[in-house]
Amino acid sequence: MKIHEYQAKDILARFGVAVQPGIVARTADEAVAAARTLSADTGRELWVVKAQIHAGGRGKGGGVKLARTLDEVRDKAAAILGMMLKTHQTGPEGQLVRSVLVADAVDIERECYLGITLDRNRNMPVIMASTEGGVEIEKVAEETPEKILKVWVDPLIGLQPSQARQLAFGLGYEGQAFKQAVRFITALYRAYDETDCSLAEINPLVLTPTGDVLAIDAKINIDDNALYRHADLAELRDVHEEDPLEVEAGEHNLNYVKLDGNVGCMVNGAGLAMATMDIIKLAGGEPANFLDVGGGANPTTVEAGFRIILKDPHVRAILVNIFGGIVRCDRVAAGIVEAARKVDITMPLIVRLQGTNAEEGKRILDESGLKVETAILFQEAADKVNAALA
Ligand code: GDP
Ligand code: MN
Repeated sequence: MKIHEYQAKDILARFGVAVQPGIVARTADEAVAAARTLSADTGRELWVVKAQIHAGGRGKGGGVKLARTLDEVRDKAAAILGMMLKTHQTGPEGQLVRSVLVADAVDIERECYLGITLDRNRNMPVIMASTEGGVEIEKVAEETPEKILKVWVDPLIGLQPSQARQLAFGLGYEGQAFKQAVRFITALYRAYDETDCSLAEINPLVLTPTGDVLAIDAKINIDDNALYRHADLAELRDVHEEDPLEVEAGEHNLNYVKLDGNVGCMVNGAGLAMATMDIIKLAGGEPANFLDVGGGANPTTVEAGFRIILKDPHVRAILVNIFGGIVRCDRVAAGIVEAARKVDITMPLIVRLQGTNAEEGKRILDESGLKVETAILFQEAADKVNAALA
């Protein structure tokens, strides 16, 4: 689960991570009030107004603006609120900005990168640090990977003080800043660990001219599988930031991921769904989605699956691929017939059934009067998808 920058900063602050002070605002008036409150605390009058969306690259897209007066805070907040902010991480149409973070602007001497995520190959969290901060870390990883220092943490032992010092040293900090960086890294790891993050990323981590080290950006993803033990964090979910089709799928307990292709697919089992996406590609199409209906290939879930697939305007054909193991293909076929009648599918529908009672399932579909192509073999299904797209 992704959360907003202001929420991530709140969480990190609770763990003693040094973050730039800020207050979230949903209107231009609230933004001005936030700026006043911040100044009363800091005695400074320079702010940064930041679009809150679940995507990075906001600065380049025009979603992060400095403001020198309260009037500027009002104007910049008014301009950013309601905008469709486009970044390399949003879709081409951008993402609607519903709130801004008004933060006390920090003077920057140097920008670094610091991130923690799970290394699935080593089964351990990895802390990555780079002096190349403020830019896309993916680019650094690709072009100059030697500039990323990696330290793996044994989750049973935890982060060792020597590891935190190694990272702070690698980032080139000295003296007072070095000590602050060690404290920062230690607190960040504790936050990552105790809130069950899948990602905790600070980009940039800044060094100020007065030698302080603090986060001016923060990105936290929380492992969905751990949300049950963090009721307070689960409430931070913002469905406005999620794909509406994925939200709808979640309500039906369907495992759906929207993709960019033209062939919708509905499959039982995640592995078979991956293989189905491969055969769609082999047939010259592009999968429009990943959709695993799990063990529940019944009329209700199949109908919900069809409705969700059909809401995607790019879909030109649908491939249903069901393996009858625990579920029987004849029952699934009857479910497909019932659902397809209700949903009114006008595009080519290809159904591959394999496993228990597959032949009977195929017969039910063939005799249903629906315009549906059936297949038993993977290859047949691929050929029929190919023909449908031609
Ligand atoms: P992102 O573009 O979505 O990653 O948003 P960031 O929070 O990282 O902000 C983008 C860039 O704006 C940063 O890399 C900084 O260069 C700049 N910026 C953000 N906040 C401040 C600030 O408080 N002071 C200064 N001087 N620059 C800032
Ligand atoms: Mn950033």
